[in-house]
Amino acid sequence: MSNRTKYDKRRSRRETDSGRVRLALRRFAGWTGEGWEPYAAGRLLLFVTGVVTITTLPLLTTDRHTWQVLGVITAVITALLLISLLVPWSRMPRSSSLIFPMLMWGALAALGVFAGGLGSSYTGLFMLSFAYVGLSQPRGTSVRLAPVAVAAWIAAWGGWASPLAARLVIAVAIWLVLAELLAGLVAQQARMTDELRRAAHVDALTNLANRRDLDLRLATVRPGDALVICDLDFFKNLNDTFGHAAGDRVLADFGAVLRSCLRFNDYAARYGGEEFALLLPATSERQAISMLERLHSSWALLRPQITFSAGVACCVGDRSPVDTLAAADRALYAAKAGGRNRDHADQRSALDTVFPG
Ligand code: GH3
Ligand code: MG
Ligand code: MG
Repeated sequence: MSNRTKYDKRRSRRETDSGRVRLALRRFAGWTGEGWEPYAAGRLLLFVTGVVTITTLPLLTTDRHTWQVLGVITAVITALLLISLLVPWSRMPRSSSLIFPMLMWGALAALGVFAGGLGSSYTGLFMLSFAYVGLSQPRGTSVRLAPVAVAAWIAAWGGWASPLAARLVIAVAIWLVLAELLAGLVAQQARMTDELRRAAHVDALTNLANRRDLDLRLATVRPGDALVICDLDFFKNLNDTFGHAAGDRVLADFGAVLRSCLRFNDYAARYGGEEFALLLPATSERQAISMLERLHSSWALLRPQITFSAGVACCVGDRSPVDTLAAADRALYAAKAGGRNRDHADQRSALDTVFPG
């Protein structure tokens, strides 16, 4: 075998190994990928506590009993960590991830109680656990948890002594400020994400879905669903005569009337300037046309001078959603060409309905 081939083989084995390690780390910690997964981070919290304790304890003591205590605590925590890999966390309430900091506090308290206050060397780790609480729980949780943490903190010191008072006050202040600050930031970020998501998917003028959302929604169209495009007639004239602001009010009104005429599962989006696309699940062309009849009547009650035309197409056979939308668009052109204020179904349905103006 040539040196080059041997080199390539070794290199590809190394890459496969590093891929496996990365996968195992991701499964365990969830921090090697993007984003934040509270249960994976909770496991990491316990793991870090274990590593810090085991690697630094030799500096503090060589006492056999202490190591036995640490051995028991480590075995219990490791078993719980392994069990936690089997728990269906995503189906459990958000507060269930509090088990991780509580286990950490329990371990440090046990170290204090059974190893002569040795947990005191690790009370700095409480701060890490409150950072976790702030990142994973709603605001105010750290305040409710503080009494439990205080009890564990005192146990970690091996019991209460008056010189601990000042330390405790400082520790609790840091825990609460850190956790509440992080919880506030997380809440603000969640709010901003919601706003951005809404802005990315909702049309500001009509409050209907926007074109981007429609493009995504189109993928869900199945055979038997109907697509409709509605277009306000002579809208440019209306803008030219009454101004753009008046035109905007008409568009907003049309969005509201549209919403009031749709069934629960129906979907409407602003397709373009004065064009609206409707996705009507499990709807025949005839049913779509009768829905449009109701829409014409409701619209005429609100804005009798302004009419609209519509094109209807059904997703049939192997016709893709995009082709169906194109067919609805062609049907709309036919309705416009036929004189406007009317609905036209594409050739496959041979339905054509005219509404008296
Ligand atoms: P047709 O009956 O053939 O549909 O004629 P139309 O005048 O409605 O159609 P055309 O495509 O010629 O004009 C559409 C107009 O819609 C032009 C544009 O100024 C107006 N428009 C597009 N978006 C908005 C908007 O957000 N607000 C307002 N007020 N007008 C808009
Ligand atoms: Mg128009
Ligand atoms: Mg148009």
